[in-house]
Amino acid sequence: MGTGGYGRAFKITSNAHENTGDGLGMILRNNLPLQDMEFVQFHPTGLQIEPLRKKAIVIDPLPGFEIIKDLAVDIDPFFEHLAKVKPYLINDEPPPDKESIQSPEEFKRISDPVACILCMSCTSSCPSFWSDPEYIGPAALYKAYRHIFDMRDKGIKYRVDVLDNKQGLWCCHIIFNYMDACPKKVKDNERDLTAET
Ligand code: SF4
Repeated sequence: MGTGGYGRAFKITSNAHENTGDGLGMILRNNLPLQDMEFVQFHPTGLQIEPLRKKAIVIDPLPGFEIIKDLAVDIDPFFEHLAKVKPYLINDEPPPDKESIQSPEEFKRISDPVACILCMSCTSSCPSFWSDPEYIGPAALYKAYRHIFDMRDKGIKYRVDVLDNKQGLWCCHIIFNYMDACPKKVKDNERDLTAET
């Protein structure tokens, strides 16, 4: 198959015009074989990963967000939803003389969500978010979980109010796509949240 890519379709592109990978993507999407793949993607990453050498991957814009250009998407909605759950400690009580000690059991409740790196993969892989961009999304739910179950936090009433509506927890259709998407392999947070609140 001869293909030059769609490089010239864009007014400005950082790719070489013939090296966009579109032709390879078309082949993969039609379940046709690729062989002698030396690179998993050409410029700009010029990436070559030995375990992936015989596999091809397609790099697309993050699903669920408006595409600005090429691979760049508008991630503002993600952070607007995150801000709704106030992703920080809420506690108006006077601070203790020393640090607040958590027991191992108390920390265990939040040890998984603490590992979240806010990569957005869970929210962008969620069909409920695709169909309703007002849905707060798995990442914001998980951040709420992380604080609701932190014994030092006193914002549970505020956060439950934010989540207890059609664009909050009740928009989740329990599809759990994020369990495959999450690079940190976090646990099934929405199920935990549903069960424990
Ligand atoms: S995919 Fe995992 S690490 Fe990324 S934002 Fe979601 S929970 Fe956090």
